[in-house]
Order: sequence, then C-alpha cells, then structure tokens
Amino acid sequence: KDDQARDKDKADRATSEQVLDQRTRMILLQMINRGIVSEIHGAISTGKEANVYGAVAYPDDQQGPDGSAPAVQRAVKVYKTAILSFKDRERYITGEHRFRAGAEKGNNRRMVKLWAEKEFRNLRRIHGAGIACPEPIQLKLHVLVMAFLGDRRGYAYPRLRDAAIPRGGEGEGEKEDLWRRLYVQLLGIMRRMYQVCRLVHADLSEYNILYNREQLYIIDVSQSVEHDHPRSLEFLRMDIKNTGDFFRRQGVDTLPDRTVFDFIIASEGPVEEGPTLSDAIERLYAARSAAVDDGGDGAAAEAEVDNEVFRNQYIPQTLEQVYDIEKDAEQIGLGAGDKLVYRNLLADQVVMSKEGDRSAEEQSDEGAPLGSEDESDSN
Ligand code: ADP
Ligand code: MG
Repeated sequence: KDDQARDKDKADRATSEQVLDQRTRMILLQMINRGIVSEIHGAISTGKEANVYGAVAYPDDQQGPDGSAPAVQRAVKVYKTAILSFKDRERYITGEHRFRAGAEKGNNRRMVKLWAEKEFRNLRRIHGAGIACPEPIQLKLHVLVMAFLGDRRGYAYPRLRDAAIPRGGEGEGEKEDLWRRLYVQLLGIMRRMYQVCRLVHADLSEYNILYNREQLYIIDVSQSVEHDHPRSLEFLRMDIKNTGDFFRRQGVDTLPDRTVFDFIIASEGPVEEGPTLSDAIERLYAARSAAVDDGGDGAAAEAEVDNEVFRNQYIPQTLEQVYDIEKDAEQIGLGAGDKLVYRNLLADQVVMSKEGDRSAEEQSDEGAPLGSEDESDSN
C-alpha cells in the first residue's frame, strides 16, 4: 500500500465509530498529510455539539539529536455541523463585535465554523496569558487541534467533577485543605481571565475544568465572551454561582457571590498568579469573618439572603444603563437601591469605555491559519 492509502485508512478508522461527514474526513486527512496529527485515536468525549478525539503527532521541530521524533499527544475537537443546538447559542454571539459580520442565521456550517474559530482564538488568548488550558495548535473550519491534557498513556485528565481529590481531614488546618486551595486557585484564574484576557468563560463549571496534580485547567471556551459583551456580567455571575455551588458541595467555605464578583471585576489589585493574588483572596475571607463576628448569629442566614439577592439583581453593562433612571427607581422601589451592583462597577465602567473598541487589535492578530481558504467547497 502506498502512503496515501495508509493515511486514508487512518482517517477512516478515526471516523468509523462516530460517522463523520466526508468533509470532516478530508480535513482530518489533510491534517495527517501535513503532520499536524499522525494518528487519530478513539473519541475521548462525544458531546451534543462536538466530539473530542485523542491523537498523536511526530512534530519535526521536536526531533531528538538522533533524528527520532518523539510522539506528542494531541486532542482534536470536531464540531458537529449537522446540529440545531447551536441555535440557542446565538445569545453568546449577538453583541460580539468579533463575530458580527459572519453571524447571520440559517447557515449551520458557517455558524459551527465560527464557534470553532471562537474557541481557537479564546484558547490562544487564555494560553497566552499563562492560564492553564490546552495550547491551540491548528484550526481548519470546524476541526480544532490542541494540546492534549492527559498522561503519557493517552488518558485525559479527569474533569474536576470526576477527580479523586481527598477532602481536608479532621484536625488538618483549613490551609491544608486541597479543595479550598483549588477554590482560591480558580478565583485567581477567573480574575486573570477577566482582567488580562478580557474574557468571561460563560460556561464555567466542574465539567469544563480538568484537574491534575493540584492544577486546574480551563477548557471549552467556544462560548466565552468579551468583557464588554452586553451580557458578560450576567454570564460572569452565572459562572460564579455554578463554581461556588460546586465547591460548597465539596465542603469548601466559599466567599459570597457578590464578593467574588467584585474581586474579579475590580481593576485595582493584583492579577498575576502568586502570593499577592492569594493574599488578596485571604483578605476577603478576613473581611468576611470580621463582618460575621459583628453580625452575630443571624449573619450566616443574612449571607445566604445576600447571595440570593445578588443572583436576582439587575446588572447594568454600560454607563447608559447605569443612568437609566426608570430602572434605578424600580430597584430602589424594590428596596434594593443600596445594593445596586454598579456601586462597585461604576469606576470600572468608566475605565472600560475609555479603552475603546478592542476590535482593531483583534483584527491585527493573524486569525485562523487555515480557516478561510476554502469557503467555497461544499458537500
Ligand atoms: P463539549 O462542548 O463537548 O463540552 P469540551 O471542550 O468540554 O467539549 O470537551 C469535552 C471533553 O473532552 C472534556 O470534558 C474533556 O474530558 C475532553 N477534552 C477536551 N479537550 C481536551 C484536551 N485538550 N485534552 C484532553 N481532554 C480534553
Ligand atoms: Mg464541555
């Protein structure tokens, strides 16, 4: 058999379990020909919107001194083009200046390509900021190749939900509790994602975080939005709730949602991973304890109510909305006037609006390397 036939077999094998269309097979074949991946293995995950496959590559630039090329593990995420569920993801794209042009309705394949592109760009930004996540390697239409997060045998790291992480035992100090340290780590990641990448994950939960050796890895960022997306703060609040709920279920003494929210969006303060950032979080704990000591027995119940109020609160996104008299009056009428979120937000919003449109900068980055070259081919 000649090389080409053998490569084709490899591509066929990868697609045999989960029938992929001709187009996807051609993309995989082309990637194999170009050495981006050499073998595609079984599915790591088959989801509603995408399948993720394990793969191996032998990159030329990583050849050993003897000329031998060590195997490098990769993950290939293949977005499903024949699905309807992307329709309800429209809320993430509406208002995204990066995707305004191409996001017309009614063209599934084009929409799916946009999602893959969005994930690729977001990964690049997050990875570039030094946040643990899969390094993006190649994008072609709806097929994204990234670094594999897993061990040498090809086992992917577990999702945080499935990770076997021991609880801090009795008698061990709170500081020793790994779960609490991971919670603090995640708050830092969320802050850095917001302040450095200017992104809100928008689907953050124990399902989209992988875990290995005390490190959290952020994945699944196709729906992540710019900080100035019209609903970014709503999504951020949701991310805080979902992750907070999870860590609470693990027995972690979590901070109130509002405290976490303010911590993430505050432009003042440390952003780089390290002691200064975790110290800032410890100060939030200390401030909360002081408040609880003042408040006596009712304080815990009050904190619960405060979380609930915060979760149902109207969040203004722009200065215009902040000065929406009718809405503010409505809030004050509901007795929530002193709790208006923009109490803390106002200063940041002024800073943001001065920064102006980031799209110029966005366009100057190279974009998807292979993304646009074959717009015209079709099945
Ligand atoms: P979905 O949109 O289907 O949720 P995800 O990006 O969350 O897609 O990926 C689905 C699953 O595939 C993850 O839960 C994880 O187990 C696995 N996975 C995704 N990316 C990688 C990667 N780079 N390395 C290893 N496993 C991955
Ligand atoms: Mg996921």
